[in-house]
Amino acid sequence: MKYINLHTHDKYSDGKGDPADFINSAIEKKMGGIGFSSHSPVPLPNSWSMKLENTGKYIEDINNQKVLFKKEIPVYLGLELDYIENLDVKSYIGFDKLNLDFYLAAVHYIYIEKLDIYDTVDDNITVFKKILEEGFDHSMESFYTKYFETYRMMINEYRPLILAHLDLIKKNNGNNVYYNENDESYVAQVLMTLDEIKKHDCVLEVNTGGMSRGYTSDTYPSLWILKECRKRKIRVTVNADAHQKDNIDFMFDFAVSNIRKAGYTSIYQFVEGTFKEHAI
Ligand SMILES: [Zn+2]
Ligand SMILES: [Zn+2]
Repeated sequence: MKYINLHTHDKYSDGKGDPADFINSAIEKKMGGIGFSSHSPVPLPNSWSMKLENTGKYIEDINNQKVLFKKEIPVYLGLELDYIENLDVKSYIGFDKLNLDFYLAAVHYIYIEKLDIYDTVDDNITVFKKILEEGFDHSMESFYTKYFETYRMMINEYRPLILAHLDLIKKNNGNNVYYNENDESYVAQVLMTLDEIKKHDCVLEVNTGGMSRGYTSDTYPSLWILKECRKRKIRVTVNADAHQKDNIDFMFDFAVSNIRKAGYTSIYQFVEGTFKEHAI
């Protein structure tokens, strides 16, 4: 099976390198396709999203690459589209007129009611601790509950085809410092979210980006969650969340072996605009 990666960040958001660098890397690795998924612009200041004024240039660039590499590898134009509670990201970026091949729906921001601010769940440990202490009165349960509630809101409002890093909140939870994934309330939040995913027939990505950047020892989502996905017959795909060209297939064999361990016998891959099933 030739791997396809849809989750790629180049210089237009927080990745390193031109789109062509990533495409050449994908060709060298004999991959079956590559999609670009710059972080969508958002109406909040940050260092990692694409700037609104660069959106047109990004789209033009990727569309040009599609033509240039036509004979060598399929190239897909996408975005990692943020969902932010009560902020209309789609309108902000003129989403309906972008003519994308795909998008990955993602939650990075949550609304922190106590402080009346938005902040991200995957920032560095100092920010994470501050949110936990000041935003949620040291209650990790309240923190992750808010995260998964927001994720479910995203599914209901966007009705997306592809979902990014389901349990991103575990990024700062190495060695179970803040919570245990066996905690009853954590399990309940995850399972409620899986039911929503199944209801809307979304494709869930198995993302190796936490591992390639040294944050996690496992994929997003964790193996136990993949087993629960399997029970519900949720379709899964493999993505790298690559921020540099060498990582566009980072530990895909490991991800597929995790998927197999969860009981799956196939994954889904994005080919010419639709997901096709591939035996593993
Ligand atoms: Zn992301
Ligand atoms: Zn990403």
